[in-house]
Amino acid sequence: ERVGYAVIGLGELTTEELLPAFRLSGRSRLAAIVSGDRDEALQKARQHGLSDADVYSYEQFEELRGREDVQAVFIVLPNSLHREYAERAARIGKHVLCEKPLSDTPENAEAMVRACREAGVRLMTAYRIQYTPHHQLARELIERGELGRVKLINSVNTQVEANDGQWRLKRELAGGGSLPDVGLYCLNTARFLTGEEPYEVFAYTHSTPGDPRFKEVEESVSFILRFPSGIIANCLTSYGAAQHRALTVYGEDANLSLDPAFTYTNLRVVQASPEAATEHLVREVDQFALELDHFSMCVQEDLTPYTPGEEGLQDQRILAALYQSAEQGRPVQLERLEGRDLFR
Ligand code: NAD
Repeated sequence: ERVGYAVIGLGELTTEELLPAFRLSGRSRLAAIVSGDRDEALQKARQHGLSDADVYSYEQFEELRGREDVQAVFIVLPNSLHREYAERAARIGKHVLCEKPLSDTPENAEAMVRACREAGVRLMTAYRIQYTPHHQLARELIERGELGRVKLINSVNTQVEANDGQWRLKRELAGGGSLPDVGLYCLNTARFLTGEEPYEVFAYTHSTPGDPRFKEVEESVSFILRFPSGIIANCLTSYGAAQHRALTVYGEDANLSLDPAFTYTNLRVVQASPEAATEHLVREVDQFALELDHFSMCVQEDLTPYTPGEEGLQDQRILAALYQSAEQGRPVQLERLEGRDLFR
């Protein structure tokens, strides 16, 4: 029996990626849509094999309580709304898969983790990248020592955001600019690939003066993460630079590049030493279907997801430290943690 999901929010990610991904999944089923736009929701519901009775407004959310075929919700709303829906879902006993960033502040992220823990429902941060075979291979190659001791990481995630009144440029809804949205991939992929937690971070932010897009949130951020083994990660993110999503891990014997690294498709993994470069050919699988099925497996088999709420919370704390660093113009120390300490 597949795990049934109510998807909350019918924006671009839901309509373009998630609804189609349900068809490609093996353990997951679209069971309901929760949206503010009833007509559009009815249309999408019909397109994806649901009936009109499977469409709910935000106010009707609690009616899902009685739907035994809905075991989980997938929150795909602007960042600062994630907390409210995670708490409401926990109260009606539904497991929660939540889009990244987990929330807009560490406090709100913490409340989400707590609410789900207390209600006995699972919470997963939708870090699709960590479910892709390309990134899993990269982590494996690093772990096996194929690069020698890892020394440095260089990671870039930039795109141009249009000034069309969207929530991403509003502090209240987004919690920040490029950093929590796309810069987050540089951060959590560095943590994922090294298996380490940064103990010190540093950041510069910049917004073009007078650019109406960046009145509330930052345009660009350059940031550095220092890891206990000595690895330094150098990260760049922007809402003002043409799209580039790439990363390179530098070891003493070889380096490994993913370019692109954070896109939905066409990821490429190239390993290079001073003598030769080889591309690792990896079969592409729909990233959204992979993350959905991972969470469904956790629900079915009562397991902790690979990227639980605690992972999203940890990133939220690091993001806050990065903003603090930018504001104060100095490095900020973080609690020294082992990866496994996150799940205390
Ligand atoms: P979007 O703007 O396309 O859609 C947002 C949805 O939220 C719309 O249906 C909108 O109607 C609804 N909404 C409800 N209340 C709202 C309010 N007060 N203001 C604005 N919209 C409101 O956004 P999106 O790109 O689908 O992003 C949604 C979430 O998914 C965000 O958390 C984002 O970070 C995340 N996301 C993740 C990925 C990924 O690759 N994992 C990609 C894109 C977006």
